[in-house]
Amino acid sequence: MSDTYDAIILGAGAAGLFCARVAALRGRRVLVLDHAEKPGKKILISGGGRCNFTNIDTLPERYLSNNKHFAKSALSRFTPRDFLDLVEAHGIAWHEKTLGQLFCDGSAKQIVEMLLEECARGDVTVHCGDAVASVERSDEGYTVRYGAAQAQAPSLVIATGGPSIPKMGATGFAYDLARQFGLKVVQPRPALVPLTLPADEALFRELSGVATEVVVTCGKTAFREAALFTHRGLSGPAILQISSYWQRGDTVHIDFLPGQESGWLKAAKRARPRVALRKVLGEALPDRLAQALAERLALTGELGNLSDKALDTAEAQLARWPFVPDGSEGFAKAEVTAGGIDTAGLSSKTMEARKVPGLYAIGEAVDVTGWLGGYNFQWAWASGFAAGEAI
Ligand SMILES: Cc1cc2nc3c(=O)[nH]c(=O)nc-3n(C[C@H](O)[C@H](O)[C@H](O)COP(=O)(O)OP(=O)(O)OC[C@H]3O[C@@H](n4cnc5c(N)ncnc54)[C@H](O)[C@@H]3O)c2cc1C
Repeated sequence: MSDTYDAIILGAGAAGLFCARVAALRGRRVLVLDHAEKPGKKILISGGGRCNFTNIDTLPERYLSNNKHFAKSALSRFTPRDFLDLVEAHGIAWHEKTLGQLFCDGSAKQIVEMLLEECARGDVTVHCGDAVASVERSDEGYTVRYGAAQAQAPSLVIATGGPSIPKMGATGFAYDLARQFGLKVVQPRPALVPLTLPADEALFRELSGVATEVVVTCGKTAFREAALFTHRGLSGPAILQISSYWQRGDTVHIDFLPGQESGWLKAAKRARPRVALRKVLGEALPDRLAQALAERLALTGELGNLSDKALDTAEAQLARWPFVPDGSEGFAKAEVTAGGIDTAGLSSKTMEARKVPGLYAIGEAVDVTGWLGGYNFQWAWASGFAAGEAI
């Protein structure tokens, strides 16, 4: 016995639930399947439990993809304001934290409840707790076997996300399915992830727990946010952001004192020749970090006894301190997966596979990865909306 629907959506995460809601409110009969015991698990842990559900400064340039134009269409047709309207219609209080990042005042649970209420309004069937055993395509459409049941629909949406945080139930299932239907997959890699430092950077690892605002640069990309030293290397928003652009072998440069005017150390020397570099650094940086940097710079004694040239060199080093990470903390700690289902095989308007009618891919499963700060949920909503309007 097979139940029939207009669309089957695999994955009851952000993208899948939103897509289901959009399609159902257009009158489609929708089944959402998830192997986890409950829907929206990643939403629940997102944004430290408060869900950074969008970013009002969303721009296509703030997404990584092999095709940097791909996300434009969907992002322009479902904007942060559109999602905010829904949040407000459900009476969910929110606030802007920083850099356009919008969070719930209360709990991420409110976002999951909102999505489920919207799905219920459209009579969406959400079935959790059974793994998808197989997906087959025939003239009648797609047949999905799960648990002891099976369902059939002319449209199938892949919304099973990427493999980041496997202990939350994340898998590479989307890629297996995409390949089964002849779609290509851009090599998935951990993104928004802490970077690890080799043993010879032990001095910095002793700074575990120290955070400071920096500008971090990798190639042509730079972010100004907080960096955090950890017992394994570097973390904090600035590092998570740059990790998405970092590739093995790349050097990451940190400006520990962004905003200081050129020549500030020489100016300090003129103003306070009796003061040690260690003390001057300690006035601008956390104490332990100032200590570690002063040791590495190896400039001891009073500023007045140091040459201008030595101070210029120290200033330049502090503004472009090189780190060569030996890796990242991997999918276990990555907030998202970069890479994924190749956008070359998908329509940017509908998310439908160009050569496989009725097959769609949305959300993190696709090779579109946002910056830290609500961008990835906005992609989930926008791509879910695009497919939800089409199925
Ligand atoms: C700790 C953490 C915090 C985050 N915080 C934020 C934030 O504040 N703001 C932001 O924008 N982004 C945040 N993200 C990223 C964001 O959670 C994801 O980008 C987003 O959830 C992707 O939505 P999705 O629907 O594509 O995938 P997911 O939300 O991962 O949903 C995929 C669903 O598919 C299911 N699934 C997987 N494999 C199978 C299978 N084989 N069979 C059936 N079902 C399957 C999973 O159980 C899951 O429910 C965070 C991520 C993490 C890990």
